[in-house]
Amino acid sequence: MERPAAPSILVVEDNPTNMLLVRTLLARLPCRLIEAASGAQALAEVDADLPDLILMDLQLPDIDGLSLTRRLKEADGTRQIPIIALTAHAMAGDEEKARAAGCDGYLTKPLDTRSFCPYVQRYLTDAGGGES
Ligand code: MN
Repeated sequence: MERPAAPSILVVEDNPTNMLLVRTLLARLPCRLIEAASGAQALAEVDADLPDLILMDLQLPDIDGLSLTRRLKEADGTRQIPIIALTAHAMAGDEEKARAAGCDGYLTKPLDTRSFCPYVQRYLTDAGGGES
């Protein structure tokens, strides 16, 4: 019996504690997790295996998440991938900046463990669309 492959989610997050939390929460969803701890690693993962969704920490050690998002949204092969920004120390205007860079969704840390999975799932079932 063949079943459709579970959607893949690339999580770009350099903080091991946050990565562990995301991994734990996403274990509730039928998805395949790909993990990257830097922008360079994220680009390598995207090259190797196009994900269905990206969760993007905006504060990364090598490149900022907004630049990385712009880069992915400018490229023909990757612009269709929905990107949800994850940011700590959110300030007024940050969500607008993330949206302007091409992020389709926006979540602030600490993550709300109750609403996280339903929020992420919307971007999997509505591939390429997402909320506006
Ligand atoms: Mn970070």
